This record gives sequence, C-alpha cells and structure tokens, in this order.
Amino acid sequence: MQMDFKTTVYLSVLGGIWVVYYMLRRRKHAKSIGVLAAAQDAGMTEPASLHPLIDPAKCLGCGACVRACPEGDILGLVNGKAVLVEPTQCIGHGACQTACPRDAISLVFGTETRGVDIPVVGPDFQTNVPGIFIAGELGGMGLIRNAIEQGRQTIDSVRKFPGIGRDDILDVIIVGGGPAGFSASLAALQHKLRFVTIEQESFGGTVAHFPRGKVVMTSPAELPIVGKMTFTEVSKENLLSFWEGAARKVGLKIRYGERVEAITSDSMGFTVATTQNNYVSRTVLLAIGRRGTPRRLDVPGEDLSKVVYRLTDPEQYRNMQVLVVGGGDSALEAAGSIAEQTGTVVTLSYRGAAFGRAKLANRQRVDTAEKLGKLKVLLSSTVEQITENKAILSHQGRSITIENDAVVVCVGGILPTPFLESVGIEIEKKYGTR
Ligand SMILES: Cc1cc2nc3c(=O)[nH]c(=O)nc-3n(C[C@H](O)[C@H](O)[C@H](O)COP(=O)(O)OP(=O)(O)OC[C@H]3O[C@@H](n4cnc5c(N)ncnc54)[C@H](O)[C@@H]3O)c2cc1C
Ligand code: SF4
Repeated sequence: MQMDFKTTVYLSVLGGIWVVYYMLRRRKHAKSIGVLAAAQDAGMTEPASLHPLIDPAKCLGCGACVRACPEGDILGLVNGKAVLVEPTQCIGHGACQTACPRDAISLVFGTETRGVDIPVVGPDFQTNVPGIFIAGELGGMGLIRNAIEQGRQTIDSVRKFPGIGRDDILDVIIVGGGPAGFSASLAALQHKLRFVTIEQESFGGTVAHFPRGKVVMTSPAELPIVGKMTFTEVSKENLLSFWEGAARKVGLKIRYGERVEAITSDSMGFTVATTQNNYVSRTVLLAIGRRGTPRRLDVPGEDLSKVVYRLTDPEQYRNMQVLVVGGGDSALEAAGSIAEQTGTVVTLSYRGAAFGRAKLANRQRVDTAEKLGKLKVLLSSTVEQITENKAILSHQGRSITIENDAVVVCVGGILPTPFLESVGIEIEKKYGTR
C-alpha cells in the first residue's frame, strides 16, 4: 500500500523531531554522566545539608526535576533515572520535589555514609539550653526566605522568655549577620529590645560570598519594619544593596569583624565572649549558618587587610601578584579565575604533594594557566609569614620570598558543631532522614 504525499511528509517531520529529541537527550545524558564522574573523581559526593533522595523505582526519567532546579546542573538523568550529579552544589531549594509528578523525591539531611549534625530545636526555636535560640540554616532549614522568616519568629519567642526587659543586661545577643540574623535584628529593633548583633565577617552572611552577579532565587518574605520583600529573582548585588539600604534607613548597627568564641551561663543569663568583648545577656540567638568559620593559617601577618578567606570577585585582582593557599576545589577555582585576569601573576601554594581532592576540570584549568605562565604551583609548601608586599614560604625545605599584593586562603572551615557542643546544645546526626 502506497502512502500519500501528505502522510509521508507528516511521518518524516515526526521522525525528524524524534531524532532531534533523541540526540538532545543522549547529549544531556552524556553530560550528566561526565558531571557525575568528575564529582566522584574528586570525592565530592556528599551534599552539605538538605538534598533530594530519589527513589529509582518510582522515577520515570521525565526530567522535570532536572529542569526545575534553579541552580543548574545539580540533577541529571543517568540511565533514564534522575541522579544528584553535583551533590556538593545542592543548596536544598526543594524545587525538584515539587516538580516530580511521581512523588519519587524526598528531601533529607545527610547520607547513609555521612551524617549531618542538626541541633535539636523546639517549635519556639529554643534549644535544650533554656534561653539559647537557633534560627536560619544552622537549624537545618536552608534558603534565604526561611532564614528571614525564622529570624523574625525567633524574636517573638525571645520576647516571651522570662526576665526580658528586666535588670541592667541585654535582652538578646544575636550572633550572625546573614539573612536570619539581619531579620532577627530588625525584629529586635522593632520591639525595642536591648540587643547587639555580632558578625565575624561583613554584612549579608553567605549571600555576600555568592559569586559576582549570581541570580538569587527566593520567595517573598516579611522583613520587620521594612515590610514585604517581594523579590523572586534578583542579583546578589541588588539584594545586598537593598538590605544594606534598609539597615541604614532604620539605623540598625551590627558589630562586624567580631567573632563569638564562647558562651557560658550564669544566674543572670549568659556571658558571651567575643574576640573583642564580653557581653552579658538574658538570651542568645545563634544565626550562624552552617558554613562555619574559615580556617586560618596562623602565621605572622595574617591580620593584614590584603588577606581574605573567600574569593568573591576575581577582577579585583587585575595587575596584582596574588598568593592562593589551599589544594581543594575552592583554592583551584580561585587560582584559575584570578590567573585569567589581565596582568595577574598567581602562586598557588599547597602543603600536599598533589591535588588529589579537586575536580579534574579544576586541575586542568590550573595546568593550563601554569603552561601559559600565568600561574606557578608550589606543592609541598607552607606559608611562613606575610608582610605588606611579600610572602615568605617554605618549599621543600627551602625558604622562598615572593612579591605579593594579596593572599586568598582557601583551606576549609571549622564547622559549628564543636562550638554548639561546648555550649551544651543537643545535636542529632541525620543519615539520609528528615
Ligand atoms: C553557592 C550558594 C548559593 C545559594 N543560592 C541561594 C539562592 O539562590 N536562594 C536561596 O534562598 N538560598 C541560597 N543559598 C542558601 C542561603 O545562602 C542560605 O540558606 C542563607 O544564607 C542562610 O542564612 P543564615 O542567616 O541562616 O546563615 P548565613 O547566611 O550563613 O549567615 C551566618 C553568618 O553568621 C556568621 N558567623 C558564623 N559564626 C560566627 C561566630 N562565631 N561569630 C560571629 N559571627 C558568626 C557568619 O560569618 C555568617 O555571616 C545558597 C547558598 C550557597 C552556598
Ligand atoms: S521528576 Fe520525578 S519522575 Fe521525573 S526524573 Fe525527576 S525524580 Fe524521576
């Protein structure tokens, strides 16, 4: 039986569409497999906190979760099933769970192999230590909107705590100047509490360290005094300048560059020891996030302002001689991106004998920069001293001095768990559960 012309054209078009669809799908699968292999190769297989757990028996492989993730290639399809291909980059948006038509995704903390420490917090955000409250990502719930909402709600609980407003001591010390600490501070101001807010770095918390120009995905949230924050997609810079403008307008003061090091309880409440002061307060609100305190080198000269612990904008290092310290992905990414700027001369110092902990792509980027003469790698080296315009390193038993304008230290962080334990806060380890 012969097909008429129209049917032939129709079937050809249909066939063509199917071939294009098939090719695109294959390409995406191949990309996902590559991303997953790179993550496994670098040992980066453990998500930081809340992340999707996919039930392969229920998964149809429709890819709705992959498309829904606002962070890009975090999920992928491998052998027709959804897989978390970039586990360490997942920030727990949860959009994948909402998008899945088969209910195949649950959001969990930790994995079977690596537990995640989550402090035990009651519905009023109070820990097992009466008077110590936790808000924001430290309590396990990530995302800016949640942090803002929890910061505000926690102050409502603090206001009900016995003794608030009495005696000549602070009502609350808010630790952390990220979205949770910012929102809590505004609420404390609104309710005329006696408070101080202490932040070890600068304004904005983790948001301040997002890459330059990152599009922040969020949902509307209520900021005390300021009103509704209606953004859904906004650049990191615009979000920070909106918050900073609001803080200025209402006269909110935050003590920057001051780190809380210990909290002890006494009959009045708590004594909070920081790098600069001792404060006495009825209650303490910990809004310190989960990213911890950057690890220091502990060498002379480290307090110079040219030393930083995170790279936010590689362009600021144009025409500079920069020392990057560390051997993980963040160090290699920092060194690679600074080396790509005009006029930079980069030295990458790592105490190990090889970059075994970093992704292949980052290792290749460093190799390329080294071959182009933009970057020099000093393996088995340690930093001994930093001065205004030099850095002194020990390299394979020899002392070497290099010209230096800036130092970027990426040697990991000290997680908050030991600090919480020292305060007596109960912690639960979650192994792939909620
Ligand atoms: C790469 C990346 C991209 C992300 N993108 C998004 C996004 O698009 N949308 C979204 O909603 N969320 C996003 N998130 C998550 C979001 O940034 C966090 O959920 C949010 O910042 C948590 O707010 P927080 O106030 O609880 O903690 P943080 O923002 O982490 O702030 C905690 C603050 O406490 C300070 N601190 C810690 N210890 C001490 C101490 N001992 N003394 C004094 N200060 C201390 C820290 O310096 C920090 O400034 C992203 C996260 C990352 C890492
Ligand atoms: S949305 Fe659900 S069914 Fe579709 S690929 Fe993702 S996990 Fe599988």
